[in-house]
Parts: sequence; structure tokens; C-alpha cells
Amino acid sequence: MTYENSLEFARNLDENDSLKAFRDQFRIPQKNGRDCIYFTGNSLGLQPKETKNYIQEELEGWATLGVEGHFHNNRRPWFHYHKFSKASLAKLLGADPSEVVSMNSLTTNLHLLMVSFYRPKGKKYKIMMEGGAFPSDQYAVESQLRFHGYRYEDALIEIKPRTGEHALRTEDIVEAIAQHGQELALVLFGGVQYFTGQWFDIKAITAATHEVGAMAGFDLAHAIGNVPLNLHGHQVDFATWCSYKYLNSGPGGVSGIFVHEKHGKNNNIPRFAGWWGHDEKERFKMEKGFHPMPGADGWQLSNVNVLASAAHLASLEIFEAAGMEALRDKSVRLTGYLQYLLDSLPVGSVEIITPSSANDRGCQLSLVIHQNGSEVFKSLSEQGVMADWREPHIPGKAGIIRVAPVPLYNTFTDVYQFYEMLKAGLNE
Ligand SMILES: *Cc1c(COP(=O)(O)O)cnc(C)c1O
Repeated sequence: MTYENSLEFARNLDENDSLKAFRDQFRIPQKNGRDCIYFTGNSLGLQPKETKNYIQEELEGWATLGVEGHFHNNRRPWFHYHKFSKASLAKLLGADPSEVVSMNSLTTNLHLLMVSFYRPKGKKYKIMMEGGAFPSDQYAVESQLRFHGYRYEDALIEIKPRTGEHALRTEDIVEAIAQHGQELALVLFGGVQYFTGQWFDIKAITAATHEVGAMAGFDLAHAIGNVPLNLHGHQVDFATWCSYKYLNSGPGGVSGIFVHEKHGKNNNIPRFAGWWGHDEKERFKMEKGFHPMPGADGWQLSNVNVLASAAHLASLEIFEAAGMEALRDKSVRLTGYLQYLLDSLPVGSVEIITPSSANDRGCQLSLVIHQNGSEVFKSLSEQGVMADWREPHIPGKAGIIRVAPVPLYNTFTDVYQFYEMLKAGLNE
């Protein structure tokens, strides 16, 4: 699409945006009496106006029914609560509903999934990750390795970009997997990298991993609700995510897991069990002997956190109404517009380290501000921009601003105004 560098053009795109009504379904934080330019949906998505009502409904059920709400709560009896998000999540993930269940928090799930799918044996004991993965994932992997008696210095393989590049090339990832194939037990990658915004080629990574007889797992924290996914079709073994970023389900919101159908009925896979993973029909018999539910449900531990899950459902309704295809379509144009405007800034002032092709990224762009980055960021914040500032990894290097225009509630005008403020900030 061809863009123009003007506020009028941005406003025109907003007027003709088929998704424009969705912004009004969210609470937008205010600064100086005006809506913020909220570009941190990659960190904490905004609150849907309906969330309150969903939670209130459960509070009311609890108040009026007490324990009987487990089976007799109006629309959504709590006993079945994990089932209500399945269909929507399955659509977002490209999965069958039986392969998906919402539960726990992300890092907890990462551990549970590694218990099942990181099965080191003989020479095949190493884990491969992208370099610079989210710290929680790094700690989870480090501690899993130690739990099995390995040291991460030896057993962890991290793939780094080529010198002078910020993104990993798929061909390099595939080659590294082949090269280390004989010692690999697990390849664990982000779906979209939290720092660079790179969208990894899940299909190619999974295929290469299976080629060497290892398991392929993905952390989709920055991918779900951001880019279309096809986990079942791509034969991904397992995945987990969180719901408080692009899924707008509230701070610390409920996570979820995907376990591919090919593993879901295999009761020989070791797992850490709890009563909510036990055969639903026998759950209240409270008898000895764990019989897992088939599919992802068999990995559940505890009864559902209903209040958090109510917030989750409120948000998933919005994704149902908008549709991931339309969201992605707008997202490509919205982030493409930001990229177009940033490219018009003086050469060398702002460097985009996120891949330039829309096929290799979601909505986030990560920007290196080469001069006075923290001052520029501060001035943007004072003017009502919410973005996030990452101190440089290497002392003396420039810091990074991550900006994520989210198609559900951000506008082309947001993008344009951000660009104008940034341009002014750079000139100060
Ligand atoms: C946000 C994020 C997390 C956070 O983990 P929690 O267990 O939800 O606190 C973990 N991994 C990645 C890649 C993330 O982006």
C-alpha cells in the first residue's frame, strides 16, 4: 500500500478502518486530560470495558450461590470454566480445541511442559533457544537442565544473529539444528521475540527439529493475538503463552498450553499431575490412581481461577468479533505506516532493529535511538506516549524503545502523532 506523510492521510485511514469501532470497547489511560498513545499492548494489553461485567457476574454467582456456583452458576458453571475459552483460543492458535487449555501462569506452564517434553537421554540432552530469550524462559531452562543433572554452560545452545545483524536468519537456525542434531533433545523458541520483535518461522523450525528427532516447543507470549498461528498444522509439539499482553486479559492473567494431538492421548508421557487433569467423570470420587483426561486437559493441575478467567473470556469475545484475519490485515498496514514514517527521519537518527518485512514480524517495532535516547523517551512519555524503554545490554550502547501499535485499539493517527513527537524530540 502507498502511504502519505500527513495527519490528514492518517485520519482518513482511521475513518475507513473497518475495525475502528473496537477502540471504543477499551478503557484508554489518560494523560493531560487526553487519551494516551498506548503502544505497550505488548506488555499489558488495555482493559476491555466488558471485563468488569464478566467479573461482576462471577462475584454475583459466588455471593448468591456460594459453593453451588460450581455447578449452578448462571451462564458459566465454574466446574466447566476451562472449557469456555477453548474454541476462541484454538482459533487464535490454529489448533483443535482438545489441544488447548487455559491454566496457571506462563513460566509455571513452561516447567510443566518441559517435565513432559524435555526428556534427555544419553547423548541427546541439549536444549536450543534463541540468544537473548526472555529472562524467565532462560531461568526456567537453566533450572530444568540442572534438575536433570546438566550445566547450562554445556547443555544450552543459544543461536545468535550474524555479526552486524539483529534478526536470526531462518536458514541459520535450521542449519544449527541440523549441526547439533545428534545432541539435541529440545528446541524451545519464542514465537515472536520479545526484544527484537522478530516473528520466527515456526513451521521451518519445527520441521528441522523433527528431522533430528527432537521436540519443538514455543513460547507464544508475544505471538498470540498478534500474528496468525497454525500450531496443529505445523506439527508443533507444545506451546504456552500469557493472556495479559495482546490478549488483554489483565495483569497476571491466566496462561494456557497447547499439546499436539499426537501426544495428547499418550498416557506414558511423564507429567506432574493434579486433580483437574484427572478424568472428569471420576474427579470427585477422590480415589487413588491418576487417569489423565485426553488432550491438553490432562495437564491441568488445579481448579480454575474463575475471576482471572472471566477477564480472559471478556477479551476473547472481542477477538471472536474482530477476527484474527482482519486484525492481522490492519496490523500489517498500521505497523507498515509507522515504519514508513520512521524511514523519513534523518538517516542514522533512529534505527529499526525489527525485521523490515511484515512476514517476519508482528505489530512491534524496536527502535534504537542513537542520540539521547533516554531524553527522547522521557519527552515522549511527558506528552502522553506509553512505550517502553530498555536500557542498553552493552554499556555505552544506545537503549531501545519498543513500540507496539495494536490493531484492536490503536489508530493511524496515534502512529502519526507519535512520529511527529519523536521527530520533534530528536531535534531538541
Ligand atoms: C511476558 C513473558 C513472560 C512472562 O512470564 P510470566 O510467567 O507470565 O510472568 C515469559 N516469557 C516471555 C517470552 C514473555 O514475553
